[in-house]
Amino acid sequence: MASESSSGSYPGRQRLRGLTVKQTYRACKKCKRLTVDKNCVLHPEEITTEEWFGYVIINEPKFSEIAKASNITEQGKYAIKVRQ
Ligand SMILES: [Zn+2]
Repeated sequence: MASESSSGSYPGRQRLRGLTVKQTYRACKKCKRLTVDKNCVLHPEEITTEEWFGYVIINEPKFSEIAKASNITEQGKYAIKVRQ
């Protein structure tokens, strides 16, 4: 999301990178955390889904407005939208 219009890079390459991320990660429906596993680390009973869109990387939840708005307290990658 952040680097969408910067540096005039090749759209094709960006699309490829996004595709790679999507194939690798799955999102928890409860906390939106991205993981490579079929279950969330925080919610072992929750089956993660491949139906998610966009993601943010939270390094310091205490200082991140996005983290506050999304009730994220752990650092990591989070999907912006997860299909329920
Ligand atoms: Zn979760």
